[in-house]
Amino acid sequence: MTATQTYPDFDLHSYDKYIVSFSGGKDSTATFLYLLDNGIPKEKIELWHQDIDGRDRTFFDWEITPDYCRRFAEAFGVKIYFQWKEGGFKRELLRENSRTAPTCFEESDFTISKIGGTKGGLGTRRKFPQQSTDLSVRWCSSYLKIDVCTAAIRNLKRFRGIRTLVLSGERGEESAARANYAIFEPDRANWYGKFIRHVDRHRPIRDWKEAQVWAIIEKYRVRVHPCYYMGWGRCSCKFCIFGNKNQFASAARISPVQIAEVISLEDEFKCTINRSCSLRKLIDSGKVYENITKELAELATSYNYDLPIIIPETELWLLPAGAFGENCGAM
Ligand code: SF4
Repeated sequence: MTATQTYPDFDLHSYDKYIVSFSGGKDSTATFLYLLDNGIPKEKIELWHQDIDGRDRTFFDWEITPDYCRRFAEAFGVKIYFQWKEGGFKRELLRENSRTAPTCFEESDFTISKIGGTKGGLGTRRKFPQQSTDLSVRWCSSYLKIDVCTAAIRNLKRFRGIRTLVLSGERGEESAARANYAIFEPDRANWYGKFIRHVDRHRPIRDWKEAQVWAIIEKYRVRVHPCYYMGWGRCSCKFCIFGNKNQFASAARISPVQIAEVISLEDEFKCTINRSCSLRKLIDSGKVYENITKELAELATSYNYDLPIIIPETELWLLPAGAFGENCGAM
């Protein structure tokens, strides 16, 4: 579906700014391409990426993801801004009798602003996020993504007095909870107080099938994140808490040192990521994806993405091995 979708009182073209919540995965890619398909000027579009590990040593995510996102934005001639929680996933995971860390975000000129972290109660985490729709226990989604994004919009002066549309790529096909998300609604950052900050939320691909997602990616000849070529069906964190046995076995093969640290923390916390068994057992029972090559594994775990994002006409666009594969990793 690439035609403009209409909803009561909703005009896709009526906004001053469009923020695409951009993970680097296929659904956020399709969401961005949907804006291009509908003729939204590139200068009005911003990609926003919440860095799961912050600016610290990579602990939970793919090393390549931030640079892949940066190169994607460059290839399409749009701006990208990063937001993160100081210390990222690991600092929040290890939080003990202390406040949650400040939130950082890039201003228009890419200088970094920092808010929070000085008030509020002390708390202890020391437990991996739990597989649940309840965001208070699945804290990675709320603390490292949703709240960080909202805090940045609320504190960036450039969104005052204008109409902003935030677009995200949740699809109903992925989970029952996502199927019930509103396609259009006021965003949490919407505010009519001392000044006006009009912010709406749009989930344009909620009802898209996976085939439509790949079709628009093929149309724009996008080279997707390397995890898809290795066999992942979703581009989430490398060690996403929703990963199944094959995903964890594959991630463990690619990043043995990091997974050892995650396993040892799981032992230390005496609380497993997967409700039914330990990470060690899960990995042992899984099958490593056959399409993992040395080159792809090195690319996914490096910090510099140097392949063309838009595949030249002289090269075939190929559906990656992970397309229409295992759909785990969403709630
Ligand atoms: S991708 Fe998985 S682990 Fe990462 S923030 Fe989302 S739910 Fe948490």
